[in-house]
Amino acid sequence: MKLIILGAPGSGKGTQAKLLAKDLKLKHISTGDLFREEYKKETKLGIEAHKYWGKGNLVPEDITKDLILKNLPKNNYLLDGYPRTIYQAKFLDENFTPDFIIVLDVPYHTLKFRLLRRAEIEGRSDDTEEIIKERFKVYRKQTSPLLKYYKDKIILVDGDRKIEEIEKELIPILKK
Ligand code: AMP
Repeated sequence: MKLIILGAPGSGKGTQAKLLAKDLKLKHISTGDLFREEYKKETKLGIEAHKYWGKGNLVPEDITKDLILKNLPKNNYLLDGYPRTIYQAKFLDENFTPDFIIVLDVPYHTLKFRLLRRAEIEGRSDDTEEIIKERFKVYRKQTSPLLKYYKDKIILVDGDRKIEEIEKELIPILKK
């Protein structure tokens, strides 16, 4: 099975992706985590990519493609944070057509509240108020068109609930 989880920054996609991947025995691939790891390891790709994600912008397509090609298995994975553009969705479709796209729907005020709380707890460097604003702008402009692109495969879930409740709703649908 090939799954994609989509949602705005703060929608809980990382948390949900980890739970679902464990339950469904899929490899969890978070491009955000991979970029952060590459940066920590001070690789060329990591340092170059940080120039963009550090400011809340998307990492350019050629670098992102290198990262995904390096990390994507043939099957049985859950992609979290990829695709984020129509270009990436088309690339994926040419090679690894996904089975389902899970979309976590969360109102803006909840997203903002969660991100600012995460900033206090985790101290992620791109969770400052200014960078959060930029990430929302990027999501609206570059990532939200994917909802239309994938419209026939989307499972839309209310993400403004407890983590376990969301997982409980999704598992039976995905295991069908
Ligand atoms: P995330 O942890 O998913 O919020 O990702 C953190 C940051 O990594 C994003 O704000 C982007 O700058 C970058 N990033 C992650 N995935 C992608 C992608 N598919 N395309 C471009 N940039 C990405």
